[in-house]
Amino acid sequence: MQPFSMSEVGAAAVLPPREISVSQWADENRVLTGGAAAERGQWHTRPYQREPMDVLSPGHSCRQVVLWSAAQLMKTEVLLNFLGFIADVDPGPVLLVEPRTEDAKALSKDRVAPMFRATPALRGKIAPVKSRDSNNTTLHKVLANGAGHITFTGAISPSGLAMRPIRYALLDEVDRYPASAGSEGDPVSLAVQRTAEFAHNKKIVMASTPTTKGLSRIELAWHESDQRDYFVPCPKCGEYQVLTFGDGTGPGLVWPEGKPEEAKYRCAACQESIPHHQKAWMVERGEYRAANPSSPIPGFRLSQLISPKKSWGEVAFEFLAAKKSPETLKAFLNTVLAELWEDTYEVPTDAHALLNRSEPFEAEVPEGVALITAGVDVQADRLEMEIVGWGRDEESWSIGYHVIPGDVTRNEAWDHLEGLLNAQYLHASGLPMRIVATCIDCGFKDATVLRFTRDRYNRRVYATKGRAGESAIWPRRPSRKNQTPFFMIGVDAAKAALYDRLKIGKPGPGYCHFPIGRELEYFEQLTAEKKFTRYHNGFPKPEWRKPANARNEALDARNYAYAALHALYASGLKLAVHCDRFKQMVEARRGKKQAAGPEPVQQPVADPRPPSRVDGREPWIPRRNWFGRD
Ligand SMILES: [Zn+2]
Repeated sequence: MQPFSMSEVGAAAVLPPREISVSQWADENRVLTGGAAAERGQWHTRPYQREPMDVLSPGHSCRQVVLWSAAQLMKTEVLLNFLGFIADVDPGPVLLVEPRTEDAKALSKDRVAPMFRATPALRGKIAPVKSRDSNNTTLHKVLANGAGHITFTGAISPSGLAMRPIRYALLDEVDRYPASAGSEGDPVSLAVQRTAEFAHNKKIVMASTPTTKGLSRIELAWHESDQRDYFVPCPKCGEYQVLTFGDGTGPGLVWPEGKPEEAKYRCAACQESIPHHQKAWMVERGEYRAANPSSPIPGFRLSQLISPKKSWGEVAFEFLAAKKSPETLKAFLNTVLAELWEDTYEVPTDAHALLNRSEPFEAEVPEGVALITAGVDVQADRLEMEIVGWGRDEESWSIGYHVIPGDVTRNEAWDHLEGLLNAQYLHASGLPMRIVATCIDCGFKDATVLRFTRDRYNRRVYATKGRAGESAIWPRRPSRKNQTPFFMIGVDAAKAALYDRLKIGKPGPGYCHFPIGRELEYFEQLTAEKKFTRYHNGFPKPEWRKPANARNEALDARNYAYAALHALYASGLKLAVHCDRFKQMVEARRGKKQAAGPEPVQQPVADPRPPSRVDGREPWIPRRNWFGRD
């Protein structure tokens, strides 16, 4: 670092900032040190990056900027260039907030420190590293002339957000911030409050890829901004338009069946297909246009459809891979297209619609069922039990729903339940089947339930307690109370799976069949809860709530029956293999029946082979023979 005189230090603090924009500064000074050789060298501002950077220059009057952007497009680079500009041209205290402290550390180490090392104009702008020097740590860097500092923090850290006054608040990935920083309240408000002393020259940047509609901070900030989308001209007809993914019928990406890599862009005006190699020409001539020009807050929105690093073919290819599951499709929409995800779980399937699709079952246990489980919900004055048949790919049939009245601290209700658990259920093939595994809710009357399950453990009658939050449906090992095992089950995951499945419209994988005769009340209970999102360590987590007074026993019973299926998975059941073997058994039986004439009275019972040994700690469950036969 070059030594400088005291008069120079004084001058730097007094003189107004140089008349240079952030993009000019970056083009003249910034040196890139990316991993790939192509990304190293002098920074060159791309046309869609210029405006978002230049509104951050001191010469622009705005105090707040909104960047709604796909991943790996401009967000981080704009923030890095702005940091370099601040350190070199217009120093002041900076607070850079990432969702988690680890993210803030990674940004400081992997992106900011290399930029300061590689860019000659930034050398010596950070106080030199001395051992144990609080002036230069990963999360706190004092600018060399004493005119400011850069502090990195996670949005969950109230102490990080309650720092000294700050002039620049760079809030990155705001959609992944927690609802509250500790108990201190909204992390965005906390950071913004710190800028109060710099009312006339502060800059607040809110940047994020979007998440879920209605829960997105960047969506809210965008609505208050002037809403600038990036319009590019069609090379065929000249019409300016915002590139959208489309649905294959109108404007947007189109590709020949099975050949996503050949994707072209269909113009909204002339309908011509634009080949990928003309994208660079279009983006070069693009311009931002504001939909809400009266707002003083510049807001910019960009998707990867204009990315110079990713072809339209790659986007189409990624879409085909992502659309296989809601989670990957959400990630694709959020990070590639920079679109909000509309959370489909939040509106459960309508109870009336489910009632209307009730169907007659041809037998007590319809043909597709290969395995039966049960779930029991415990209330003070009754037990509610559902018996569920499972087939290939977890297609399910509700075989029975029983409300067993009676004081649950007395024996009658339990005797009644025992009868249902031991009963035979007749398969369409004539084969009698039994319930293979049962989960009983022990969250309410645990001693009573444990007394019942303790003696039936070997028959896979398990006491279970629902645990909210993100956890596996079936735990790796049981919990215990007075030596009696019970299982903590991930009810949120079970509910999410059920609510997804209730939306499946035609029989097949995951479809839920209900018999004619089930009352509307049953379906109302099944769909009683709604999914909300709360934040945990900066990441959204679903939370299930039901309206006050709404009953949900049918939903609980179904979840316990589903947990019982997962208990079988945990002990080695492969449902597809089981379904194949069951089908063979049914076919063999039908063949024999044809040969043998009339049905014999006594049938082999499709029942799990009773365990031969109990070690008193873990349940012994046969690895094979899910219905008692080879
Ligand atoms: Zn056109």
